[in-house]
Amino acid sequence: MGKALIIGAGGVASVCVHKCCQNPDVFEEICIASRTKSKCDALKAKLDGGKTKISTAQVNADNVDELIALINSFKPDVVINLALPYQDLTIMDACLATKVNYVDTANYEPLDTAKFEYSWQWAYRERFEKAGITALLGSGFDPGVTGVFSAYAMKHHFDEINYIDILDCNAGDHGYPFATNFNPEINIREVSAKGSYIEDGKWVETEPMEIKRVYNFPEIGEKDMYLLHHEELESLALNIKGIKRIRFFMTFGQSYLTHLKCLENVGMTSIEPIEFEGKKIVPLQFLKAVLPDPASLGPRTVGKTNIGCIFIGKKDGKDKTYYLYNVCDHQECYKEVGSQAISYTTGVPAMIGAAMLLTGKWNTPGVHNIEEFDPDPFMDALNKFGLPWKESFDPELVD
Ligand code: NDP
Repeated sequence: MGKALIIGAGGVASVCVHKCCQNPDVFEEICIASRTKSKCDALKAKLDGGKTKISTAQVNADNVDELIALINSFKPDVVINLALPYQDLTIMDACLATKVNYVDTANYEPLDTAKFEYSWQWAYRERFEKAGITALLGSGFDPGVTGVFSAYAMKHHFDEINYIDILDCNAGDHGYPFATNFNPEINIREVSAKGSYIEDGKWVETEPMEIKRVYNFPEIGEKDMYLLHHEELESLALNIKGIKRIRFFMTFGQSYLTHLKCLENVGMTSIEPIEFEGKKIVPLQFLKAVLPDPASLGPRTVGKTNIGCIFIGKKDGKDKTYYLYNVCDHQECYKEVGSQAISYTTGVPAMIGAAMLLTGKWNTPGVHNIEEFDPDPFMDALNKFGLPWKESFDPELVD
């Protein structure tokens, strides 16, 4: 059916490549391109021989001209951006110049400011529309499946949704005192930022980790979770009818929090460059270099994740509550694709989002968040490609 250019060769890209190869009628040909070509070649070596044809390339995704040259030589139908949020705009520029569809899993962040919001990417709307191409923003799990869950709840269960709580629980244990389960730099920027949520159309800001709740997660049990700022709050508050409040909670273990506090206290999480032995270094980038590579956590991580959304709203004039979630087992992911569940729960929806565009099931030119599309074919694909969802009409609520 089509050709996909996958940019990045880290934990999430590895899962996405495996999943494209499990869906060869849609992904006839893929090219894996990243800064370090040997990582692309290693992935190709693992998966070569199946029906999907694989090639590799070296690319610096900060450089628009290099991206344009690569796109012009491979001629993909879609570019799947699984590099870092810093590269979103350069890759979107290259897609515009070559008129190719675009998919990502995280919104743009400037390298020198730990701030993530959609304004920079939404500014491309008109240009994508005019070019007749689609940018699908946030096709991971959160953002991603959480938006699809919201669109599905709205379509099938509610007339209006007034409250959404997104709950992200990772009960996996990798045995290290401290490691992050996706790119450490992006992860630490996210969790050390101030928390925030939307209430009555306004952002309410909190100190980092100020709001804590305990939740009894299905198939996992009780875990401490903390309110964080998260990018999908911004788009869901606009795209889902009736929202009064929307919050995002993520679980953290005590060891993670104690290490993070200590690293913050000594300045290791700072993104301000410092002078070190005659060279400028960014402490957080140095920290990333000494932490375990998230892609290496697969064999040692045991336990499950449970990520989902609790919706409260109205149907036919009556109050209604609905909980949609997925439970994923780290070791089962490792057995299937050689990765832990965080990369898995992001890489699978990245493949599905690209498949929605390649098959024409989703086809509205412009720049769109995932909840703007029909959720049904995506929900079916989640069941088919390893992220089956469950529902409950009587969940425990978060106060
Ligand atoms: P990794 O650090 O494992 O992989 C990133 C890859 O991008 C690496 O292969 C890296 O190359 C490559 N890369 C970085 N900069 C460039 C560049 N300038 N040019 C070309 N390639 C580059 O990250 P993850 O796989 O863990 O995460 C990938 C993305 O997924 C991130 O944006 C992250 O925020 C997002 N994510 C989204 C989630 C969701 O649910 N929505 C959840 C988890 C992650 P090199 O190997 O040379 O460093």
